[in-house]
Amino acid sequence: MGAFQKAKGALRHLEKRPSGQSLSKIRSFPRIIFCMSSEATSPILTFEQARHVVEQHAAGLRASGKEFVELPEAAARVLAEPVVADRNFPPFPRAMRDGYAVCSSDLARLPAKLKLVGEIKAGAQSSTLQLHRGQAAAIMTGAPAPLGADAVVMVEYTAAQGEIVEITKGVSAGENIVPAGAEARRGSQLLSPGTRLDHAAIAVAASAGRTHLQVYAKPRVAVLATGDEIVELHVPPGPTQIRNSNSYSLAAQVRAAGGEPIILPIAPDEPNRLRELISEGLEADLLLLTGGVSMGKHDLVEQVLAELGAEFFFTGALIQPGRPIVFGRVPRSADTGGESTAIPHYTYFFGLPGNPVSTMVTFELFVRPVLEALSGMTPRKLVFLYAKLKTEVRTKTGLKRFLPAVLSGEFEQAEVELVPWQGSGDIAATTRANCYLVIPPHRERIPPGEWVAVLMR
Ligand code: AMP
Ligand code: MG
Repeated sequence: MGAFQKAKGALRHLEKRPSGQSLSKIRSFPRIIFCMSSEATSPILTFEQARHVVEQHAAGLRASGKEFVELPEAAARVLAEPVVADRNFPPFPRAMRDGYAVCSSDLARLPAKLKLVGEIKAGAQSSTLQLHRGQAAAIMTGAPAPLGADAVVMVEYTAAQGEIVEITKGVSAGENIVPAGAEARRGSQLLSPGTRLDHAAIAVAASAGRTHLQVYAKPRVAVLATGDEIVELHVPPGPTQIRNSNSYSLAAQVRAAGGEPIILPIAPDEPNRLRELISEGLEADLLLLTGGVSMGKHDLVEQVLAELGAEFFFTGALIQPGRPIVFGRVPRSADTGGESTAIPHYTYFFGLPGNPVSTMVTFELFVRPVLEALSGMTPRKLVFLYAKLKTEVRTKTGLKRFLPAVLSGEFEQAEVELVPWQGSGDIAATTRANCYLVIPPHRERIPPGEWVAVLMR
């Protein structure tokens, strides 16, 4: 099917939406523009197409500022400057084992007896000892190898008696010694800007003597829950009201992905207040909305965004949960400061479906790369693991599914099975899951024992 037919199909699908009189015209507006202006894409995309669209936009995004933080606070932040080696790594030829520093050629015939001429502890001055042929020096892990030594024999292959050490195993030149500067030369770059500072990167920065690091400012992410039935946590809910859980799950996901969540008040399904709150949310670096993007009569989010000048890149993906997901951007008004070229011209937004599990899944699938880009890093690819299916799965075809599942099994024997659930509103079931089982759109039945893709949570 050509792109144009796909677009038309999508339009037909949209026309089927129940619509309220004049609203329907405005609501289909952004979609029609989209279909006509970009024949290559359809507003309802496959999972892979939608993900690529997001990745392409993310590639053009930058962090909005920088700040200095103390080293321990830099963990999980994104580095905004290069970290350079202030000395050679290691600064001296470093013994990798406890044992004896030797000249390797002295061990041509075994066992070899060598004369003990000293003991070198970690931290000892490196130039105080010179080893000559036939000699050995006891040496500890992390100590500088003496001049004249070209290898260290592990203590396990030696027996010392008085001034003599007997060695029963040969070594090749260089064995168990790391030459000075072999890991990094003084002045070379150890960490590049855009690195997410995990524990290894923090160790490198500490080794280079960095007490402070310049990191990118955390992107501010506005979180806006919508829906007449949704109530704040301090409000006792009426019999058909639902407490707002999405703002809190999203805030937790935003924080874990390196952003600073700003939870806005709940927006009702009423255009004026919704517009006010969306406008407020668009002041942030990224706006995440939940609810109001399905096909219901009172799902007004897209309409209001369109009125605010939004461009929509997709208004649905062929996935479950999360099918009605919306991705787009709104031009920023000209008066955003202007002193820095880093200020983007658009605020991107996601309209995430209101069903709590859909919200969580679509964040992982689509929001994360945008957030990572706004944090200053190159967005990470989605990583899937494979595990053996424990119990048969039956689904309908047509959508790629990411269903809550439990990954178990000992060591490399990973097994996975679906968590019984009541659909994408079932948060309680989701807490019993630790991953999502990925079901390709063409599979109706997957037998137990088959290798299946798993997305970790
Ligand atoms: P919607 O996407 O607005 O059609 O909502 C789909 C479902 O998700 C409905 O059952 C809503 O009550 C529920 N829902 C929407 N927003 C939230 C929220 N912020 N917290 C919890 N549930 C929500
Ligand atoms: Mg709703």
